[in-house]
Amino acid sequence: MKKLKIYLLVFMSVVVLAFFVSVEFSKAQTGSLKVYFFDIGQGDSILIRTPEGKDILIDGGPDSVVIERLGEALPFWDRHLDIVVLTHPHDDHVLGLYDVLARYRVDLVLEPSIKNEPGNMIYFNGMTEKEKSVLKDDAITLGEDLKIEFIYPFSLELEEENLNNTSLVFKLSYRDIDFLFTGDATEDVEAKILSENLESEFLKVGHHGSRYSSSQEFLDKVSPLVSVISVGEGNSFGHPTQDALDRLAAVGSRVLRTDKNGTVEVEVFEGGEWEISCGKGCK
Ligand SMILES: [Zn+2]
Repeated sequence: MKKLKIYLLVFMSVVVLAFFVSVEFSKAQTGSLKVYFFDIGQGDSILIRTPEGKDILIDGGPDSVVIERLGEALPFWDRHLDIVVLTHPHDDHVLGLYDVLARYRVDLVLEPSIKNEPGNMIYFNGMTEKEKSVLKDDAITLGEDLKIEFIYPFSLELEEENLNNTSLVFKLSYRDIDFLFTGDATEDVEAKILSENLESEFLKVGHHGSRYSSSQEFLDKVSPLVSVISVGEGNSFGHPTQDALDRLAAVGSRVLRTDKNGTVEVEVFEGGEWEISCGKGCK
């Protein structure tokens, strides 16, 4: 009788495990692209899951909350990221990546080239040997009709007084749908890239909705249908600013915010249709 119980227990465990593995495996092979704008407080952290199950993390937010968010988005057994992108070395983008590098196997780290790297970037680079500097016209193919193309910076060895302006600017394109990421780049960088192909359905709003980013000329060029602001509830910077919100309203963009809507998940299907869901509701 005791033996039968053990057999039963083992059998049940195998069934349960097989169920979870098949569910997680099917999630990784959905044929759709998923972009998660994580609710990680005041900072940025965005996960891209490709239809083939490749994972790209853009920034890590200000602390270890990113580990929780990755745990919610990825299969429980998955401790691997194909690419980590550090847009620029400010604490609200890089600190969470320390935990990511400590806990995840990362194949490649992409970052801007900065002449006098600040201490946190030196520390970050000391944790990996996979880092590579990128600049305009660098591109990465992630699958069929799926790629990332870098738009900014124009050169290596950047010397910027304002580190926000070392931010990598790049476009993720899946079939006809584009996502534009600008880190914390200010209107100065936006002015330099106005002649680039910026038009995108989705925009990660620059610098958490600061008044010094999202200039009207820039937003007119991007013409986003949906703009996502990654921002901490009750943050001390006054982000997002009414100025930025007004300019987004002027281009008729729908605005979602991680402080109010929680993690914003965009799923783009093979046919190019897309669907948005939000951790705290999308209203
Ligand atoms: Zn920031």
